[in-house]
Amino acid sequence: TYSYPTSKQLLERALKVIPSGVYGHLGPVEGSMLPPSAFPFYASRANGAYFWDVDGNRFIDYMCAYGPNILGYNDEEVERAANEQAGLGNCVTLPSIKMIEFAELLVDTVHSADWAFFAKNGGDATSFALTIARAETGRKKAIFVKRDYHGVSPWAKLIGNAGVVEEDVSHNLYVDWNDYQALENLVEQHPGEIACLMACPYSHGNYVDNELPAADYWSKVRALCTKHGIVLAIDDVRCGFRLDLAGSDHYYGFKADLICFCKALANGHNVSAICGIQELKGTAASVFYTGSYWFSSVPFAAGIATIQKLKRIDAPKLLREIGQKLTGGLVDVAKSHGFHLNISGELPLWYMRITDDDTQVLHQAWIAACVQRGVFFTNHHNHFLNTALTDEDIAFTLDVADDAFKAVKQLLPQYA
Ligand code: PMP
Repeated sequence: TYSYPTSKQLLERALKVIPSGVYGHLGPVEGSMLPPSAFPFYASRANGAYFWDVDGNRFIDYMCAYGPNILGYNDEEVERAANEQAGLGNCVTLPSIKMIEFAELLVDTVHSADWAFFAKNGGDATSFALTIARAETGRKKAIFVKRDYHGVSPWAKLIGNAGVVEEDVSHNLYVDWNDYQALENLVEQHPGEIACLMACPYSHGNYVDNELPAADYWSKVRALCTKHGIVLAIDDVRCGFRLDLAGSDHYYGFKADLICFCKALANGHNVSAICGIQELKGTAASVFYTGSYWFSSVPFAAGIATIQKLKRIDAPKLLREIGQKLTGGLVDVAKSHGFHLNISGELPLWYMRITDDDTQVLHQAWIAACVQRGVFFTNHHNHFLNTALTDEDIAFTLDVADDAFKAVKQLLPQYA
């Protein structure tokens, strides 16, 4: 099984000059989503469905850089487009025509898009959505769904997070996912005060089974927002282009006012987008919002090539097929060992959890055993699929999963 001596040495080196060495949810904290004993810290290269760590271990990557990798790393078409643009210029004083072409493509592709605006991170897009909603309505409050994640801006955090002050979140209201009645009550308690409802297309929080929208949830939410003049902003940063190229609102049969994209938008090139309806275009234009790299053209060229290829190969359909084979196989392997693996969420970004143990010990041990055999899963976050995965990769994954269950039964005989 894999070990990570070089990763560990590099982490020591990094800790001297970088706060926490690797920050965010990849941080090396025992008891975190990624126990440091089981996971490498640094990658050396990536290609297709794989990445290699600094110790030379190869992994089938089911995290896909937490979403950006949708066509496989180093996709030839995307990289060719990016390289061609790099030869012409990337970060220049003026934007290039690629920015317009990319916006046109998104307006053609995304159901709720009458316009597109580009930034860099998902949090840039969600922050812009909130600002547009406030500018449009003249109201301060926003409703969020518990467990949704909208980035690292202070408004998107919770009191108790380091450095967040009460005023940062004093206009935030929270509801439970799929509880329409609670949402309606909240809206009625705050007449004329709510600028925005921001939500992910379905509940894909960490540490819990992911939950799809109830049958009529979104149509009722859409009607409620329209009735009360609330801007409905969909955070499609994580699901975007994996469920439906026209947007996850389209997938679930409703129309957002604003929709935020990032991760899969340019197959790993650095760009995010916010798209919206015609009625909000003037307000979007009135908000001063920009950044040092926001006009860079290489990611626009990469994004155009990405969306074109996703359309040509019908990526969402392909990802669902891959997801069906993979998760069906994993469930069967678990069953053959007497375990129940619960699959939740949408297949292109499925969440999985072994349900035979409330302490998470069994689940984490199995995930760790898979990782140490070259299948990069994670413990308590949804996974991601890319279209470069082959049937051989899935067969390899199922073999590893089987081996990993055997290893876990030896390691933890109480579960055997
Ligand atoms: N929204 C969702 C649903 C996300 O998954 C993420 C990133 N994990 C964000 C927003 C924030 O995006 P970024 O980290 O690029 O700012």
